[in-house]
Amino acid sequence: MQNAVSQSRRAFLSRTGQLTTAVAVAGLGGMSREAAAETQNCVEGATMTAVTDNHYLLADVRLEESFEKEGDIVVATRTALYTLEIKDGRIATLHAAGATLPAGLPRYQANGQLALPTMRDMHIHLDKTFYGGPWQAPRPRQGKTIMDMIALEEKLLPKLLPTSVERAEGLIALLQAKGSTIARSHCNIDPVSGLKSLEHLKLALEEHKDDFVCEIVAFPQHGLLHSEVDGLMREAMQMGVEYVGGLDPTNVDSAMEKSLDAMFQIALDTGKGVDIHLHETSPAGVAAINYMIDTVEKNQALKGKVTISHAFALTTLRPEVLEETAARLAANGMTIASTVPIGGLMMPLPQLSKAGVFVMTGTDSVIDHWSPFGSGDMLEKAYLYAQLYRGSDEYRLSRSLAISTGGVLPLADDGTRAWPKAGDDAGFTLTSASCSAEAVARVPARSATFHKGRLVSGEVGKASS
Ligand SMILES: [Zn+2]
Repeated sequence: MQNAVSQSRRAFLSRTGQLTTAVAVAGLGGMSREAAAETQNCVEGATMTAVTDNHYLLADVRLEESFEKEGDIVVATRTALYTLEIKDGRIATLHAAGATLPAGLPRYQANGQLALPTMRDMHIHLDKTFYGGPWQAPRPRQGKTIMDMIALEEKLLPKLLPTSVERAEGLIALLQAKGSTIARSHCNIDPVSGLKSLEHLKLALEEHKDDFVCEIVAFPQHGLLHSEVDGLMREAMQMGVEYVGGLDPTNVDSAMEKSLDAMFQIALDTGKGVDIHLHETSPAGVAAINYMIDTVEKNQALKGKVTISHAFALTTLRPEVLEETAARLAANGMTIASTVPIGGLMMPLPQLSKAGVFVMTGTDSVIDHWSPFGSGDMLEKAYLYAQLYRGSDEYRLSRSLAISTGGVLPLADDGTRAWPKAGDDAGFTLTSASCSAEAVARVPARSATFHKGRLVSGEVGKASS
């Protein structure tokens, strides 16, 4: 906590320094020394870390206006400063520069920072993390199978449970600091922790019901059949869980069709969706994907409600088979959740999107016994996406943001402004970039995150009314 306070103070001091410099430059342009000092004092004394007004103005928010082209090539992005009028959790009005503003409302200052749509972390495990605890690297993975990892977890889970509520809350704070206030968390349902992981996760989410929205996937990490948790999974469905999870039906449950049938049956019986971890890259992984598509085709109640997380088997398909599979995934409204892996597995994410498959991303692990490399930053996922799929130009950089925001982009493909619009939820994050292309390429820090009109992380300036 000491550390957090001193970091925040450092950030404040460095920002004040920048503003002082700005004021000094303005002074050269004719502002009197007294006026400059007054501006400086006003800014210095008024950094707000909480905004809970129901109706207020947020001034000098940078929004994207259009693309600038040379011939057919997008070479830059035009922006302008707006005052957002926020009311009842929504953006009521976007006031352009020079517009007459409604009087008497509290006013806050975005200081020219760029607004980006809310980031969505659509695959994370909030329930079991080392984040917030002492440094601990995962054990060597070389030569280990997923069954070895499950055996390790059986010993680890009882040690994690006593702190799992506070650690989940710490992770939520990290996500918010990076601009994510919408998430989907997997949550272990296993014989060791029973329903305790879920109970703890729900306690953490309850604390954040006004500042963070999170769907839960009941995740049979030790195998739906292997660990015999069908009954526990069904109990979990009565506890506010939205998705039935699953895991490698061949490698873990050794019975692909039986395992997938059991998973889908819980979903059909309870009216929930499905989100399965499928890491298998063998032909069995491809068979599992095809079997799931067949199942959704036969059960229209599942249409639009099934997500395959990771789906590494898609990397093994020949182009024409991938095209056919992607078309079937799209036709059945099936979603792919990918962490945008680097290394040997190059997921065909652009090809899936082009075929109409909804592709989303997530953190998976920030730091736990699986991986120590996560930052919790969805903007970093857009950066990876752009880098991996040759998106280094202004236009493609700006499009790459879609994977992080659930497809919400400030500018539509034709360059017209698509977001934000009056009436939209007041959810956004502020960052020191000139446009989304720069934000994706440079991944600047986020200075403030808003959710339903509330400042939930970071800080803004307080302007005089
Ligand atoms: Zn996962």
